[in-house]
Amino acid sequence: MFEKILIANRGEIALRIQRACRELNIRTVAVHSEADADAKYVKLADESVCIGPAPSSLSYLNIPAIISAAEVTDAQAIHPGYGFLSENADFAERVEKSGFVFIGPRPETIRMMGDKVSAKNAMKRAGVPCVPGYDDALPESPAEIVKIVRGIGYPVIIKAAGGGGGRGMRVVHTEAALLNAVTMTKAEAQNAFGNPVVYAEKFLENPRHIEIQVLADEHGNAVHLGDRDCSMQRRHQKIIEEAPAFGIPPRLRNKIGERCAEACRKIGYRGAGTFEFLYENDEFYFIEMNTRVQVEHPVTEMITGIDIVQEQIRIAASEKLRFRQRDIQFRGHAIECRINAEHPFKLTPSPGRITAYHTPGGPGIRVDSHVYHNYFVPSHYDSMIGKLIAYGDTREQAFARMRSALSEMVVEGIDTNIPLHRQLLLDAAFIGGGTSIHYLEHKLASLASSE
Ligand code: ADP
Repeated sequence: MFEKILIANRGEIALRIQRACRELNIRTVAVHSEADADAKYVKLADESVCIGPAPSSLSYLNIPAIISAAEVTDAQAIHPGYGFLSENADFAERVEKSGFVFIGPRPETIRMMGDKVSAKNAMKRAGVPCVPGYDDALPESPAEIVKIVRGIGYPVIIKAAGGGGGRGMRVVHTEAALLNAVTMTKAEAQNAFGNPVVYAEKFLENPRHIEIQVLADEHGNAVHLGDRDCSMQRRHQKIIEEAPAFGIPPRLRNKIGERCAEACRKIGYRGAGTFEFLYENDEFYFIEMNTRVQVEHPVTEMITGIDIVQEQIRIAASEKLRFRQRDIQFRGHAIECRINAEHPFKLTPSPGRITAYHTPGGPGIRVDSHVYHNYFVPSHYDSMIGKLIAYGDTREQAFARMRSALSEMVVEGIDTNIPLHRQLLLDAAFIGGGTSIHYLEHKLASLASSE
């Protein structure tokens, strides 16, 4: 096992990884920007290194600074967390070439999954069901594009192969709008991702977002840890997740989970990963794979009792998976609310000083957060300041505990989305289960118009 790990991230996930390391008796190196110098998790780490000024491009995305921090502190491995460099194949490669272990998949795997066209093709070959479409770059010829899209059938969604973060996508309902949409998405993709390749797939009208968590070791073993429902999204970004996904028959869950585990074995996947699907009319359609730990991993940890971050570290240390599929039991229900420093309904970011802070507790409540009373939320990064997770024997109990936790939680001095979470946990359709990816956008729109 490693003696020292460098954590190339910030915020709650930096603290989460630190906790996993401490339990495994691994020392930690925190790297931080000037804006995060006073963060509590930086003080809690065994060592810390400032890697640059506040803007991420100069610090958390600064590959040479991170590698040299690992060199001067003699760390053996680097955990990238999520976001920042976690899905950057060049970074993974540089880490390995510099003699450190990258806690994640092989660089080739990250590269393949980072291109959605090659990811979809690889998954199709591995027997994972995908959204129907044309699984290659759209050609230049307008006549050919029209023909291809007629073959798929309207509505379609034009997506950037290199896209991410909910950007680089355009829905097309009629042939009249097609060519213009392709041209615009291409231009946007070139600007935002430096890659103009776009592809087309069927636009599913009312799906849910359901994903499968997997773990795979470098010895050819792979298991799935069940599903999560992440349909509660605004601007294609998740704010509430739960496990297991409501109303999915266990037989279907196991079948799709087993397909994902099998795909991992086929492509030689290593580490933790997530297969993201759209789910409509009892069918799963693969959209993309995330080759890293995800924000919502705790809900899976709560229902399986498996510490996903510790398993990532064990796998990176070349250990064999410690369990087989039949050893994994799903028990109870978990729900996570992402607490963001933003206006609950207008969604505008709200950085600043937290003047009062109180976290909830009690049976089944977990708080993953790096903030505290008097903490200053910097304006340079993602607005998420923590995650509230509630576990119960049943979905009803998990929801009841979450309601109680949200009523106890106090964050003053900045706006947070806690009032929105309180409303959603009382929302009849959400409580009923199975709401689609469009539900929250519609609800926010109707709240705005009734104001
Ligand atoms: P990103 O990498 O930007 O997150 P994804 O491919 O994961 O992009 O898609 C993000 C979201 O966009 C999905 O959760 C879903 O809400 C919507 N979406 C993507 N593909 C489709 C599709 N074929 N039909 C309907 N909605 C889609």
